[in-house]
Amino acid sequence: ELIDVPANQLIGSAFKNLGLMVTINQRLDFDQIELLLDEFGFEAVREEEYGADMEEAVEADLEADLQTRPPVVTVMGHVDHGKTSLLDYIRKTNVIAGESGGITQHIGAYHVELPGGRSIAFLDTPGHAAFTAMRARGAEVTDVVILVVAADDSVMPQTIEAISHARNAGVPIVVAVNKVDLPDANPMKVKQDLLQHGIVLEDFGGDVMSADVSAKRGLGMDELLEKVLLQSDILELRANPDREAVGTVIEAQLDVGKGPVATVLVTNGTLRVGDHVVCGMYSGRIRAMLDERNRPVAKAGPATPVQILGLPGVPGAGDQLIAMPADRAAEIAQTRQRLEREKRMRIKSRGVKLTDLSKMLARGEQAQLNLVIKGDVDGSVQALSDALEQLSTGEVRVQVIHRGVGAINESDVLLASTSTAIVIGFHVRPTGEARTVAEREDVDIRLYNIIYEAVEEVRSAMEGLLSPEE
Ligand code: GDP
Repeated sequence: ELIDVPANQLIGSAFKNLGLMVTINQRLDFDQIELLLDEFGFEAVREEEYGADMEEAVEADLEADLQTRPPVVTVMGHVDHGKTSLLDYIRKTNVIAGESGGITQHIGAYHVELPGGRSIAFLDTPGHAAFTAMRARGAEVTDVVILVVAADDSVMPQTIEAISHARNAGVPIVVAVNKVDLPDANPMKVKQDLLQHGIVLEDFGGDVMSADVSAKRGLGMDELLEKVLLQSDILELRANPDREAVGTVIEAQLDVGKGPVATVLVTNGTLRVGDHVVCGMYSGRIRAMLDERNRPVAKAGPATPVQILGLPGVPGAGDQLIAMPADRAAEIAQTRQRLEREKRMRIKSRGVKLTDLSKMLARGEQAQLNLVIKGDVDGSVQALSDALEQLSTGEVRVQVIHRGVGAINESDVLLASTSTAIVIGFHVRPTGEARTVAEREDVDIRLYNIIYEAVEEVRSAMEGLLSPEE
């Protein structure tokens, strides 16, 4: 929309010029966007986040203060090759340390302690979508990618995608050849097929480590984790635990009982209960912290995931957290909120001026106003849908793409986001989650109690859209 190039042209160019097979709903990372825009004569500029350049936050650590830190691992691979099983196995058994009571809750990341006092942090959302989404926000938290390839299926399209994502990010791969328990497993074929994609395993004289595993039976898992540790030794991962904490939000939501809850992976320093932090657009004091076993913890060092309580709002995945004095944190949060509001206003007014719409009309294309309607009873939802659809004119078509009874939920908002729709609630309200997603995806939610009001407001919005440009 911003560069006025139809989506299919972008998709075509991505394929032709970058060799990327993408769909309209797919996120690209910054480097890909940069290359793609270049094809159309535009330059991509990363938006600077206010306060991100604070000297005290990015101050380099002294060599002498750095200590070895655990690796952070993301699991990728083709669908059904066993990513979830692998993460679940490690989570449930806590493989080696055998600590009683596996990790049962999902908070977006967990860490396991291994013998010899070492540990590994796992990002608990497998696949490259989450990985790319984080990178798109400028958050590069993964040190090592475990590439899961099923030995009965070998290299498949998403295996190749995962390889290119990891390579793009400059993150080393450790291969888990999975499902070796199956009778038709052929680990050798996997290794040979990987060669074709530039992944040369140690067995072939290369430097990519691998382990034959069965995530289901737990075979070879110790070896896999050992290889991950070996790989991370090569990377010489280090951090300074004795400084203010810096971290990245992995996942966040509004909890009915606890309020805003964010899972933060501490990337440097140590985060403590009582610390004042700025996190995305919010500032606050850490009221409590919980580990992946829902146990309270007082502090979290480098590469430790931890749930934090005490923020006044829900930050976004990929947002940075920095511990700092309260007044400074508050100032940064307020400025970020103001800048965000201003940005929204700019986007909104661009939407309403909608040169796009007049352009579409000029091209003889029909403009379409998409709506998602939720109400308390089916009858009124039906009545409201009909009334709104009847507002359609020759130029602007009003289309209800989804309607239903009940609170506006997350999936309504996601649908609205992907189809550029407005969500209308009649005698119903959005859930906390829906509100969070709407804020993040910039989806407009409008609530009404009277049908007439809803109709009038949509009508005047349409007239506003149609009024001639100044
Ligand atoms: P994902 O889509 O990559 O997350 O794959 P899942 O972890 O959901 O696994 C897909 C299917 O493969 C499930 O039915 C698993 O039970 C099965 N599976 C995963 N690992 C193994 C394994 O090591 N051996 C066997 N036989 N089946 C497995």
